[in-house]
Amino acid sequence: MGNMFISIVIPVYNEEENVGILYEEIIHSLNHHYDHFEIIFINDGSTDQSFQKLEELHKNDRRVKILNFRKNFGQSAAISAGFAFSKGDVIITIDADLQNDPADIPTIVDKVLEGYDIVNGWRQKRKDKFWTRKVPSFFGNKLISFITRVRLHDYGCTLRGFKREVVENLKLYGEMHRYIPALASRMGIRSVEIPVHHRERKHGKSKYGLGRTMRVLLDLISLKYLLSFSYRPLQIFGSLGLFMMVIGLASGLYLTYVKYFLNQTANRPLLFFTVLAIFVGFQMITLGLLAEMLARIYHEGLDKDLYTIRDCIGFSDEDIDDRP
Ligand code: UDP
Ligand code: MG
Repeated sequence: MGNMFISIVIPVYNEEENVGILYEEIIHSLNHHYDHFEIIFINDGSTDQSFQKLEELHKNDRRVKILNFRKNFGQSAAISAGFAFSKGDVIITIDADLQNDPADIPTIVDKVLEGYDIVNGWRQKRKDKFWTRKVPSFFGNKLISFITRVRLHDYGCTLRGFKREVVENLKLYGEMHRYIPALASRMGIRSVEIPVHHRERKHGKSKYGLGRTMRVLLDLISLKYLLSFSYRPLQIFGSLGLFMMVIGLASGLYLTYVKYFLNQTANRPLLFFTVLAIFVGFQMITLGLLAEMLARIYHEGLDKDLYTIRDCIGFSDEDIDDRP
C-alpha cells in the first residue's frame, strides 16, 4: 500500500476536550498501517478553545490541517469542505466527539480497497439515549431505507469510508450528510455496511436533540425529489396537473350536460370542484415547467460554496486552487 494516501475528515463544533484525545487515537490506529495520511479538522465556528487546541496539534504534526469556518455552518457543510480540500485516495469521515472509535478505520479502508465505493459504519451497540435518540433513529432508518431504496441499518453513523471519485461529486447541505449513501446511489455506487464500535460521549454535549428529527424529515422530502424527479420535474407536477385537469374537464362536461339537456341548474357544489380542479391542474403544469427550468440550471452546476472559510491552515496554495 506504499503510495496510497488517506484523508481523515473531522467536523468540530465545541469539542475542546475531545480533539486532543481523538488525534492520539487516530495516530495510534493509522501509524502501523499507512505511511501517508492527512487529518483535516473543520472548525465549524466553535466558541470554546477547540481552534486553539487544533492549532497546537498542527504545530506538532504537519499532517494535521485545519479549515476554520467564519461561523457555524453545520455538520454537512463542514464535511463538504473537508471533502473539497482532501487529497486522499480513500477518505474517512469521523465525529470529533470520540463516540466513534478510530481503531475501526483500517477495517473501513480495507473494505474500500476491496472495491466498495462507500463503506458505512453500523453502530450495532449504540451508546446513546434510548427515547430521544435510538427510538427516532430506528424508525428514521426504516423510513429512509424505504423511501430511498438504499437499505441501511444506520444512516446516522458518520464513520464512513469513501473512494475519491464519490466525494468529488457530492454537494451537501442541511442535514444531507446523513443521506450520503442514498445521494450517491444516483451515481450507481457500490456500498456496504460493516459493524463498528460506539462509545458514550464523555466530554462536551451533543449538538442535536429531538428538534433535529423535523429537519431530517424535511430533508428526506427534498432528497426523494432530488433522487426521483429532479431531472424531469415536469413528470410529477405535470402528471398531477393533467390528472386534475382531466377530472375538472369531465365534471365540467357533466355540468354542461345537466344544464342544457336536463335543464337543471348547474350551480351546485360540483361547480366549485370543477373550477378548482381545472385551476389547480393548470397551476401544477406551470409549476412543473418552472421546476424544469430550475432543474436545468441546478444540474448545470451552481458552483457556490455553502460555507466561508477564515483560515486554511496546513494546505499548500496548490491544494487550495485545485479543489473541485
Ligand atoms: N458538529 C459540527 N457542526 C455542528 C454540529 C455538530 O461540526 O453544527 C460536529 C460535532 O462536533 C461532532 C459531529 O459533528 O464532531 C457530530 O455531532 P454530535 O456528536 O453532537 O451529534 P450526535 O453524535 O449526537 O448525533
Ligand atoms: Mg456524537
